Amino acid sequence: MKPPEVDRVAASKAAVAARRARAAVKNEVIAGRRAAVDVATVGLAEADSVEAGLRVRDLLLCIPGLGPVRVDRMLDRLDISRSKRVGGLGRHQRERLVEYLGTRAPTASGAQHPGPGHPAPAAAQTRLVVLAGPTAVGKGTVSTYIRENYPEVKLSVSATTRAPRPGEIDGVSYFFVTDEEFDRMTEAGEFLEWAVVHNQSRYGTPRGPVQEALDTGRSVLLEIDIQGARQVRASMPEAVLVFLLPPTWEELVRRLIGRGTESSEEQARRLSTAKVELKAQNEFDHRVVNNRVEDAAREVVDLMNISARPAPA
Ligand code: 5GP
Repeated sequence: MKPPEVDRVAASKAAVAARRARAAVKNEVIAGRRAAVDVATVGLAEADSVEAGLRVRDLLLCIPGLGPVRVDRMLDRLDISRSKRVGGLGRHQRERLVEYLGTRAPTASGAQHPGPGHPAPAAAQTRLVVLAGPTAVGKGTVSTYIRENYPEVKLSVSATTRAPRPGEIDGVSYFFVTDEEFDRMTEAGEFLEWAVVHNQSRYGTPRGPVQEALDTGRSVLLEIDIQGARQVRASMPEAVLVFLLPPTWEELVRRLIGRGTESSEEQARRLSTAKVELKAQNEFDHRVVNNRVEDAAREVVDLMNISARPAPA
């Protein structure tokens, strides 16, 4: 029998709250304020805790220096499946996990964690987060929301050879450059990454401002395409890669047609790119569904090493 509407609303609110609570715990581990072994210990001891609801894989991915490839290899060694939650582990899996995490107790700052019950020293590490995803999923809207509401996050401004759309401002939306200028920047090694997107224009992330922001302790967000995300992963393995997903494929089509900024030929080209792009989601560290822009933005910011709160409206 279908549950009454009111129950479904309550259940979906509870699910959102639980997701947020799990994101907060992960953020603590990412920031080095809590050791993964502590989180696992609580999750194993208290079945109803937020910690118990965390996937082991997600917990491991929060440990500085562990990327998805190493995490998956480790899960195989521990004989723990990718989808297992901390609270759902068997006895031997628990023992193996705690033993392993005990050896990984060093925090992001490199210091040895003092052990369960003792807070880890705050980490000084800042984060480079890459937001990618299929065309029209709303990456631009989410990153604009972050720029306007989380001033502590530095948003990288890309250079592009495409023409400005109405309302776009040079130096804010993009640096609109000529083909010759883009060639010059490429040759001078000024890009952290660059790519031809939708088989058409070139887009690139200027390296200087990103490095400067990281050096001065700011977290940086890059909103780029998937080819660019792969290049960043290769050159900066510490970067956190986030894949933004549409709630459904139909919604993605609706958003692309609805924004009415592209010709029908261009829409068709972008939809075919989007199909290919969606297949890349498993290469990413985190997936965020863009249901509500504010929620998606919050989830992305939660992955950065900052105690950010939205600026008051
Ligand atoms: P649009 O033309 O709609 O502004 O952007 C088209 C695509 O280019 C989007 O998927 C966007 O994420 C991507 N893009 C924007 N800036 C960069 C960049 O600096 N590097 C790469 N690789 N892609 C970018």
